[in-house]
Amino acid sequence: MAVYIFGHKNPDSDSVCAAIALADLKNKLGVKSVAAVQGELNPESKFVLGKFGVNAPELLSSGAGKQVILVDHSDLAQSLDDLAKAEIVGIVDHHKLGDVTTPNPLEAWIWPVGCTCTVIKSMYDFFGVEIPKNIAGIMLCAILSDTVIFKSVTCTDKDKEACEVLAKIAGQSDLKSLGMAMFKVKSAIEGTPVRELVLRDYKDFNMSGKKVGIGQLEVVDLSLLDDVKPALVEDIKALKAEGNRHSVFLLLTDIIKEGTEMLIISDDPSVVEKAFGVAPAGGKVWLAGVMSRKKQVVPNFEKAFAG
Ligand code: MG
Ligand code: MG
Ligand code: MG
Repeated sequence: MAVYIFGHKNPDSDSVCAAIALADLKNKLGVKSVAAVQGELNPESKFVLGKFGVNAPELLSSGAGKQVILVDHSDLAQSLDDLAKAEIVGIVDHHKLGDVTTPNPLEAWIWPVGCTCTVIKSMYDFFGVEIPKNIAGIMLCAILSDTVIFKSVTCTDKDKEACEVLAKIAGQSDLKSLGMAMFKVKSAIEGTPVRELVLRDYKDFNMSGKKVGIGQLEVVDLSLLDDVKPALVEDIKALKAEGNRHSVFLLLTDIIKEGTEMLIISDDPSVVEKAFGVAPAGGKVWLAGVMSRKKQVVPNFEKAFAG
């Protein structure tokens, strides 16, 4: 029986590339493994896999009766709906520990670094397995994406060191250009349905019993979103109602200006000021220096919702 390896819902490049890389490593260690995803690849991930000639993982919608390894998440709200029917044999992640529990011991590699692929790079080293050139390329891209080309507060020396080695293996010398090429693909939103934009990098959280959705669009220039902004607001309003959510926040992150405009739809908008100390106006707020949902947004909201 093969072990299925997959990342969070609305997969980003780390979820996709980490699943592929870990499946490669596990297979070489004699554990039959299959890389999978919980949903369609976003344009950035398609670009990355295309660039290095790597096949997309298979689509997985049920874990029933399967052994699974979670990558890039450990929150139930972000995992397979029927995860309870699967046996979790491992977690490889770089987020806060979520609410997944297991009846049996598991292999857990959870490090406070900028990207799951950084952890997997160390796993290859630990087991003494060589990283194939194309896999190194996609791991490199995942790290550049998750760390916003090393600019995010989530980026650590471990991420930079991993990139240095991966770049050599992959034959990439200009990481800045490679990263910018990815973020340009990410910024091209023309012709994309609004709901697809909202869900492109979207996660649900359980915060003190309340269902809170936080999406993020990372672009090279916020003005690219001007025309679509009213439609985005309407859509997160609809998304909130559909899922009985307490709040939906959409982070519009300008990776050059290094800040985020947050669009707010909430039963209690005062949580925003509680969380960030800035009062929203007109259903939005500018958060200077905020680029990381994981480190600069989720913890603030968790605290605000708790008290
Ligand atoms: Mg991710
Ligand atoms: Mg990640
Ligand atoms: Mg990201």
